[in-house]
Amino acid sequence: MPTRILVVDAVATNRILWKVKLRAAYHQIFTADDVATALGQLRLNRPDIVVLGAGGSDLIQSIRSDPAGLDVPIILLGEQASPMQPASLLRLGADEVLPPPVSETTLLAHIRHLLKRKQTLQLAVSEPTPWGLSEPAQRGLGKPHSRAIMIGDQNHTREWRAKLAAFCEFEVHSCHPLDAMDAIHGETDLVLIHSGTAPSDLISAILHSPDLSKRPLVVILSSGPNALEYLDQGVDAVLSPAMHLDELSARFQRLFARKAQSVQQNLALHQRLNESIHDPLTGLLNRRGLKRRIAGMPQTTPLSLVMADVDHFKRINDAHGHAAGDAVLIMLARLFSRNLRQADLCARYGGEEFLFALPNTDHASSFDLANRLCQAARNTPVRLPDNSTLNVSLSFGVSAVPQRAISLNDHIALADKAMYRAKQSGRDTVILADA
Ligand code: GH3
Ligand code: MG
Ligand code: MG
Repeated sequence: MPTRILVVDAVATNRILWKVKLRAAYHQIFTADDVATALGQLRLNRPDIVVLGAGGSDLIQSIRSDPAGLDVPIILLGEQASPMQPASLLRLGADEVLPPPVSETTLLAHIRHLLKRKQTLQLAVSEPTPWGLSEPAQRGLGKPHSRAIMIGDQNHTREWRAKLAAFCEFEVHSCHPLDAMDAIHGETDLVLIHSGTAPSDLISAILHSPDLSKRPLVVILSSGPNALEYLDQGVDAVLSPAMHLDELSARFQRLFARKAQSVQQNLALHQRLNESIHDPLTGLLNRRGLKRRIAGMPQTTPLSLVMADVDHFKRINDAHGHAAGDAVLIMLARLFSRNLRQADLCARYGGEEFLFALPNTDHASSFDLANRLCQAARNTPVRLPDNSTLNVSLSFGVSAVPQRAISLNDHIALADKAMYRAKQSGRDTVILADA
């Protein structure tokens, strides 16, 4: 699907001009000439990006206050006669303000850059702490103890320490380009690179490092490739030492707001992912989570499976109530988790069934472990919601496959069958599956 761009401009010839130029770059263009039409287009067509031309500065707030325009990247083609400085336009919610005259190359490079950032936001699911700010709510721009690394010489560090200090509390540490890859670490919140002293290969190396690329990377432009090339490379912002302090402050605020948003989205995605593979009652992996974790193990890892089912669980529910049944399941989950090795997995496979996956464990050791768990459950009374206690037992079936010659489902079926034999032989016992 082509990128959908909404061009809003009060002047008809501008609209036509940009429509033709952006269409030539294979984008799909919608146009509007006033606030009402722009908001209508925004809600109807959900553009990927908005380009505001003449009269656009008045629209930023309206777009940002509309649910359809909260997150859409906005590029403002600055007006020569505009009384508003870039800083105020950025603070109103523009993501970029380009001074006139704006060439098609410049606009297209900024569109690419903002779209790439938007996609990164949407896809950022790799790790729970995606960049330097370990506690985004407490730290960040203007908050104490934020750490920046300046890759460049001492003079640049001094200059930028003074500039950043004018509007936020950054500790700026100086770093030689050769030491940069080691100097950026978990405590680093921001990386500044002086383009004149740091080779372009270094920027590329940082941007391609899965860990280092998580913190914002800002290039301070002096010489070398121009700003657009850096943006295309994937840096978060390109700043000029000539920028007014107020504009620098606004640009950093915008950058940090975007990064904080990315952290929040990443955490929310992780939470949802976590919820989808865990059982909410016991906190154990659920069936899907266990299968996924097993699928992630090397095929060559020998695996034992142990299926365990609470004996006469229905009677517990019937006699003491559903909440008491839940308390039993929670206690068993804790007991099992305490008694397993770190590499072992325990899942709530169904209602009152638990499935254990024991990598690199042979028949004999799996059988021993199941017996220990069986004994521990038998000997650990459960405290019920009414403060009374209850003893429970489980039946266990063990299946060990040294070479993973059979499918996971067949392997589970073997453990399940052995567990049923344990039920038939009087419950509260462990049966080893036929090899
Ligand atoms: P057996 O020894 O043969 O396994 O008998 P059982 O009573 O344990 O087995 P049955 O399959 O007859 O009953 C299982 C019960 O587990 C029925 C169901 O209501 C209950 N159950 C399933 N999930 C939950 C849960 O999350 N909480 C509670 N309290 N009960 C549950
Ligand atoms: Mg049961
Ligand atoms: Mg059952």
